[in-house]
Amino acid sequence: MSQIKQRLETIKSQIVDAEQQGNRNRGSVKLLAVSKTKPASDIALAYRAGQRDFAESYTQEALIKQVDLAAFDICWHFIGPIQSNKTKAIATHFSWVHSVDRLKIAKRLSEQRPDYLPDLNILLQVNISIEETKSGVLLNKLPQLIKEVNSLPNIRLRGVMAIPEPTDEYQNQRKPYKYLYQTVTQLALPKINEFSLGMSGDLKAAIVEGSTIVRIGSAIFGGRIVQ
Ligand SMILES: *Cc1c(COP(=O)(O)O)cnc(C)c1O
Repeated sequence: MSQIKQRLETIKSQIVDAEQQGNRNRGSVKLLAVSKTKPASDIALAYRAGQRDFAESYTQEALIKQVDLAAFDICWHFIGPIQSNKTKAIATHFSWVHSVDRLKIAKRLSEQRPDYLPDLNILLQVNISIEETKSGVLLNKLPQLIKEVNSLPNIRLRGVMAIPEPTDEYQNQRKPYKYLYQTVTQLALPKINEFSLGMSGDLKAAIVEGSTIVRIGSAIFGGRIVQ
């Protein structure tokens, strides 16, 4: 068994445990394999172990790997910062985008999504840390952005994504996720029900607090030399 397959199985059993711990339905959390900086051969190994959803953060790198892996039935997610000049490539080559944090980018993705493809699934990245430099819409601006993005054609707003400040302490990991989940569910928008929360270091806390998609990189593919 490949090491990647072994690690995938470990993560999947951790997801099942966390679902149980959080009184979540079994199978309610999707595992997204974050393959940024990793070669197409690693993605192929994960694919052969049954993984179908993969996430990339850098457009150029992703497009090259997508060509190499064109024969594979992969669902591609984009999770990196989005520059305006990359929206066309992202709108054309991905099924999900987790990192939309302003109307301008949502409008471009909407205009540039090709007609022959189904609606592009969009998550709004929310800034739930106190650092001013982090990308993401502030929580108090989220309802307005949801309203604006919801009216755009060719894209389908599905939920939110967040990257809190890293901490090793389980109870502290839960706090920002709990706050975000409560705030968004209080908006009572039935179609905004995907929560892209949790990475290798905090997936349990994220799942217990309502995550529906965990984005796992290093725990599947090993550490990255470059971020
Ligand atoms: C790299 C990255 C991940 C994966 O992080 P790991 O700690 O390696 O699991 C998840 N989400 C985003 C947005 C990332 O950029």
